[in-house]
This record gives sequence, structure tokens and C-alpha cells, in this order.
Amino acid sequence: MHELSIAGAIVAIAVDAAGGRPVRKVEVKVGFLRQVVVSSLVFAFELVARDTLAEEAELVIEPVPARVRCADCDGETVIERFPLCCGACGSFAVAVVAGEELEVEWIELDEMDAINIGADAGQTVAGKGVMQ
Ligand SMILES: [Zn+2]
Repeated sequence: MHELSIAGAIVAIAVDAAGGRPVRKVEVKVGFLRQVVVSSLVFAFELVARDTLAEEAELVIEPVPARVRCADCDGETVIERFPLCCGACGSFAVAVVAGEELEVEWIELDEMDAINIGADAGQTVAGKGVMQ
């Protein structure tokens, strides 16, 4: 269940950025290609956040659709299912433009205090050798 390691990274980033204050809300961008099950991530977040400053935090997930650019027809299309191929001509010669995001965007603290983070939770997870 890789949602658990992702949740761990999200909580670590949020708590670190909160600087000792309780976290109210965490907003995360999750690309389609990450194949994250949203309900599993919410569940894992609640589990991991227990007994941390993010315990009361609401996890807001902003899904990012996958987009590819085609080398054959030069079209850019949104991909809603696998396999990854051009939505216009069906070619597999595509480069991913969007959809690999896994980013903690914002956290909200007490007194309507929000912090823009923009930290890549995917990198953090990969750095721990969990995802790759
Ligand atoms: Zn194409």
C-alpha cells in the first residue's frame, strides 16, 4: 500500500513546515500517473497523522489529470486511462506533460494562517527508497 508511504511524506512535510503549530488543513496535488487511491490516501493520512501536529488536519486532494504530447501528430491530449497513448492518433510516441505531480501545495495553520509549500512529496518518498 504505497499510499501509506506517501501519507508519511505528506505528514512529515506539513509538520516540518508548521514549526510547532497545529496543522488545520493540508492541500496536496496528486497526478493521475501516481495511481494513488484517494480514499486509501485519506485513510493512511489519518493513521499517520495520529499523535502529530497534523492530527486534526483535513487532507484536501487536488487530482491532476495526465496530459501527453504526441511526437507523431504533435497533439496534446488528456489521458484518463492506461495505456498512455495519444488521444488523437493513438501513437505510443508520447511524452508526459502533466500527471506525475505529488506535491504538498499549502498547509493551513491556526488563525487562518496559510503557508505555501510546494514541496514534492514524491521526491521525499523516492529519497527514502520506498517508491523506486
Ligand atoms: Zn498523436
